[in-house]
Amino acid sequence: MSTRQQNMTRLDDGPFAYIDGMLCVDGLPLRRIVAETGTPAYVYSADAVAAAYHRTAEAFAPLGGTVHYAVKANANLALLRLLARLGSGFEVVSGGELTRVLRAGGDAASVAFSGVGKTRAELVFAVRQGVLLQVESADELDALQAVAAEAGERARFTVRVNPDVTVDTHHHIRTGHDASKFGLPVGLARELLERAAGGAYPNLDAVGVQVHVGSQLPDPSGMADGAKVGLDVLQAGRAAGLQMDLLHVGGGFPVAYDGGHVPGPEVFARALEPVLADAGVRVAVEPGRALTARAGVLVAQVLYRKHRAAGRMLVLDTGMQHLMRPALYQAQHRFKPLEAGEPAGPTELVGPICESTDVLGVSDELPDLGPGGLVAILDAGAYGMTMASNYNSHPRPPEIVVEQGVARVARRRETWEDQLTWERHADSFGTVLPSRAIRQQLRVDSTAEFKRIDLDEDGKVKH
Ligand SMILES: *Cc1c(COP(=O)(O)O)cnc(C)c1O
Repeated sequence: MSTRQQNMTRLDDGPFAYIDGMLCVDGLPLRRIVAETGTPAYVYSADAVAAAYHRTAEAFAPLGGTVHYAVKANANLALLRLLARLGSGFEVVSGGELTRVLRAGGDAASVAFSGVGKTRAELVFAVRQGVLLQVESADELDALQAVAAEAGERARFTVRVNPDVTVDTHHHIRTGHDASKFGLPVGLARELLERAAGGAYPNLDAVGVQVHVGSQLPDPSGMADGAKVGLDVLQAGRAAGLQMDLLHVGGGFPVAYDGGHVPGPEVFARALEPVLADAGVRVAVEPGRALTARAGVLVAQVLYRKHRAAGRMLVLDTGMQHLMRPALYQAQHRFKPLEAGEPAGPTELVGPICESTDVLGVSDELPDLGPGGLVAILDAGAYGMTMASNYNSHPRPPEIVVEQGVARVARRRETWEDQLTWERHADSFGTVLPSRAIRQQLRVDSTAEFKRIDLDEDGKVKH
């Protein structure tokens, strides 16, 4: 133990702090990590993810609630493995996400599969695994019945209700208003449940209702209003004779991207309590960003300075290809230097991509950095890497997971060559369709091959 006095300044309630002027994650200098990995690099604190999970689970424990982490926020296997170990359930929206959850040791019985556009192959996969399907249309329910009958299985489902609630969040992340593509209108949801009660879906068990009103909810009122609507539909299903007792109230727990204050999961739990009192339902929440956003940063390096009439500008070695949120929905992130220094005034941070929307933001907090200067983009642990692309044929960055002071490469950096992998079949280039061999490569939805996936102790698929 060092007896030297350390000067520590926490950035917020997350795992990042300046210690003796160096930006650290759980006490480990980010500078030391990127000296090994290079930049850009995503760095996550596993301990911060665990803490956020426990906080949410404890907030909803008095309601008998369960947590189903929304995998789309951050699908890194090491973090999924951690959450599975802690007992988290999962909310997935694709066969790819379900594959990740199973590989990470997640329990299929506590997976909920949402999304408006599940393919037949995804339905087969989900039904074979025994996951809960959150159904969004009458056609999807018909497809699910057909798939379950063909597989000779029973499938559990909820109906996703569109509660027609408009919440005060960015219009691109609202989902619960009538004009959005998500969910079933209340009337149709009731009608489908009545049909189910009448025996129209003999292989399916209606177990509950899902509502999700949007992300970055400013307060719990939208979620509570959505829950009321969901509960009404659930009670209508019960009145029709169905044994429904599950209410998925979605995600949307906010993150203070400005470093300020937002209501925590306890506030949401307290607001739901009177709504759900005596209703006899099990509540499930689907937090995404609230578990992972604050746990991660994207560390980048300054390539060049540009001085323009409008002010100073730094060109970074990362941009919208790795962190799309600013370009996609004008999200604002904080920027911090890896080495503390006097702020040099407003600085615009841009990426290398050939798009004028490739602007990561403007910061008043950066010192006068030059080429080689290192910057952390905060709260990048959610909807960062999962939305990263290879646009302009840039490789995607590595993901480093720090757990109890030890940093590990959870996903390696892509290379320029990696990106040729999917086009490497020089012989097949130019093969005239139809071709049986090519069809096997192209059709991930040839459902006949899907079997129940059993995993051995090492998490490998058993054959
Ligand atoms: C995106 C989404 C979530 C997670 O949203 P966050 O804002 O990250 O909490 C949960 N449930 C559903 C149905 C979603 O679409």
